[in-house]
Amino acid sequence: MGSFPQPEEIIFRSKLPDIEIRNDQPLHTYCFEYLADFADRPCIIDGATGEVHTYADVHLAALRVAAGLHRFGVGQGQVIMILLRNSPEFVLAFLGASFRGAVSTTANPFYTPAEIHKQAAASGARLIVTESAHVDKVRTFAEERGITIVCVDVPPEGCHHFSELLQSNESDLPNVEINPDDVVALPYSSGTTGLPKGVMLTHRGLITSVAQQVDGDNPNLYYHKEDVVLCVLPLFHIYSLNSVLLCALRAGAAILIMRKFEVVAMLELAQRFRVTILPFVPPIVVEIAKNPVVDSYDVSSIRTVMSGAAPMGKDLEDRLRAKIPNAKLGQGYGMTEAGPVLSMNLAFAKEPSETKSGACGTVVRNAELKIVDPETGASLGRNQPGEICIRGAQIMKGYLNDPEATKNTIDKEGWLHTGDIGYVDDDDEIFIVDRLKEIIKYKGFQVAPAELEALLIAHPNIADAAVVPMKNELAGEVPVAFVVPKDGFKITEDEIKQYISKQVVFYKRINRVFFIEAIPKAPSGKILRKDLRAKLAAGFSDT
Ligand code: AMP
Repeated sequence: MGSFPQPEEIIFRSKLPDIEIRNDQPLHTYCFEYLADFADRPCIIDGATGEVHTYADVHLAALRVAAGLHRFGVGQGQVIMILLRNSPEFVLAFLGASFRGAVSTTANPFYTPAEIHKQAAASGARLIVTESAHVDKVRTFAEERGITIVCVDVPPEGCHHFSELLQSNESDLPNVEINPDDVVALPYSSGTTGLPKGVMLTHRGLITSVAQQVDGDNPNLYYHKEDVVLCVLPLFHIYSLNSVLLCALRAGAAILIMRKFEVVAMLELAQRFRVTILPFVPPIVVEIAKNPVVDSYDVSSIRTVMSGAAPMGKDLEDRLRAKIPNAKLGQGYGMTEAGPVLSMNLAFAKEPSETKSGACGTVVRNAELKIVDPETGASLGRNQPGEICIRGAQIMKGYLNDPEATKNTIDKEGWLHTGDIGYVDDDDEIFIVDRLKEIIKYKGFQVAPAELEALLIAHPNIADAAVVPMKNELAGEVPVAFVVPKDGFKITEDEIKQYISKQVVFYKRINRVFFIEAIPKAPSGKILRKDLRAKLAAGFSDT
């Protein structure tokens, strides 16, 4: 018997031609390739102090940090945890680790001790760079495991100061042979299902992703060397680490670092430093679009506003357009595992093409995208919604120590399945319309239902639980729980909320609790989240 003919795959590619990407080198070598051209230009502007560090300063400091990491016992391939708000030290720690041939796992400094311990233990971190305010959360754990703590401010007893890393001489750094497929960044993401997992991003992968955004004949799609890029999105998330920091470094742009978003402070900095690029997430766009204070500032230097990490509807896009009329506006679409950028708006290109509100741009260069029917796996044509899949050298190497989850996300043909439902229209524009996967996005931050469900089920009065997203105007989505109390036991909504609040960072807090008799499940035991989401959409109430 002959085999059945395979149906032809419909593959979407960028409207721009592919480029040559030299991704067989270390990430830091690639980022600083044009250092000689930029050496005296501003690289990092510290928004808190106004201090400016040139490219030459940052390059040298990163080399010294690498030598310092070596002196502190961090070997090639070993992991450091960066547990910091945005700061110049964040950038130096990340670049220093790359020069050392080490790996940075980045985490939200406002995580609870349990959340930090889980990631530090799973990633095998040997050294943690943090602020003194967070030391109490890691001290005991670090002592038990012999982890060095380095603080960027006055270090409590037993911890080191970041300047000690910088005191090393760059010539003390041993020769490091880096394989392009070595891991350099290890952000955590729950992907399409389950608990957060370490996403292995390699030198090759990150170079490819950055090049797809800023290299080539139609150069610097996003950034030019004259640009001043606002870096207010947290660098511990891959969107900011890649599309803000690494892309700006490669392009030779200045990176204006802000620790926390606050609209007036942001506008003052934008006006003072003539900021040209604002990489945002939808909740920040809402704030800018709504706040009349924006009209009192000179925002004429801003040429691009981009939004990503969560959906931004057409209305919001149009409102922002009216507020900052000189700027080009558009969305990018990313997913940590995808390296992270899948698509971007070509309004930013040197020769911009017309783009549509609500679209997330077109697939990046040197990559393939397809839309598949989630039931049959068949490849779908234009204007037909299905699961978005991406293939290319930019995607993750896999999940750390989790071949099973890797296999379920990247198929045998190398396609990464995003768990997002979308379609490609007649003009190659991508629209995301739904999400197949479990994750909840609170202001662009990930909340993994499985993590909250595990905590809920561990409560002595709870028999079963499921967590799903509920639409929320401010945050986009918030987690809500369906809970089955144990027979004969009583528990209130407030008790559940408080019980969870103590164990998780603020955006994972449960917003509502609905009591229910049984969690709907498939025969396999899988929670039927669609049914629960439908209940919410239909206005479900347990009272
Ligand atoms: P993360 O790994 O935290 O970056 O989250 C990735 C997920 O965020 C994607 O798989 C999408 O579900 C969502 N996402 C990212 N960018 C967009 C966008 N522009 N529009 C809609 N959803 C987005």
